[in-house]
Amino acid sequence: MGEFDGLVAVVTGGASGIGAAVVAALHERGARVAALDLQAVDDGDGLLGVRADVTDDASVRQAIAAVVDRFGGLDIVVNNAGIGAQGTVEDNDDAEWQRVLDVNLLGMMRVSRAALPHLRRSRAAAIVNIGSIAATAGLPQRALYSASKGGVAALTRAMAADHLAEGIRVNCVHPGTADTPWIGRLLQRAADPDAERAALEARQPHGRLVSPQEIAHAVLYLASPLATSTAGAGIAVDGGMQEL
Ligand code: NAD
Repeated sequence: MGEFDGLVAVVTGGASGIGAAVVAALHERGARVAALDLQAVDDGDGLLGVRADVTDDASVRQAIAAVVDRFGGLDIVVNNAGIGAQGTVEDNDDAEWQRVLDVNLLGMMRVSRAALPHLRRSRAAAIVNIGSIAATAGLPQRALYSASKGGVAALTRAMAADHLAEGIRVNCVHPGTADTPWIGRLLQRAADPDAERAALEARQPHGRLVSPQEIAHAVLYLASPLATSTAGAGIAVDGGMQEL
């Protein structure tokens, strides 16, 4: 018996990194899981890959309808799809600001809006948004990305207030630097990727990157019946970076 037996989950950005770890963690514990992503994810027993773009409202609505059609309902939404951006407030033009906010912030709004009517029919409804330490850390060269993730933190608290009385808990996980293909791509741009990785690890309080599975564990807690009095919370999974 898994603690998510009988529950249905949607994970955006479920093809890679943190999203793929969340898909696996929920599935291992009994949930039927749909991975919504631009990239293909193979179907399996209790696993559904749905090609969808969180910047396209029609695509999101079709994807959520396909999940409910296939699995008969929806209980858990993990809003994880996101993209990065580097630079100060001067370095990105309007189009880039709109592109990143469209994925990282408006994407969460679209998926949540399409899912809410189904979540209202669940007896174990939860939304878990993936933020970042960038939401509050004041990281240099991350103005746009930080603004998008600050928006995620604020949206989480506002949605928690709006939907708790309906039995829908909304919470957030704020990862530190996590060992995903995203970070791998950034490291590959360095002159010496191995040295850059070592320097990045040395900057972490616990001397290593966070694993996607460690972030998935926090998502599992917030999505589970263990967290039935937790709403509007943000859990940092960052090796203590912001706390120490
Ligand atoms: P990743 O690039 O490995 O995976 C992101 C996934 O999102 C990809 O599969 C991609 O196809 C999908 N995606 C991107 N745009 C999409 C769209 N418009 N519609 C649907 N799917 C889309 O990244 P990751 O490192 O696993 O990051 C996942 C989340 O975690 C992001 O929200 C990111 O901001 C957050 N995060 C990551 C780190 C880190 O260090 N890796 C740190 C803090 C927060």
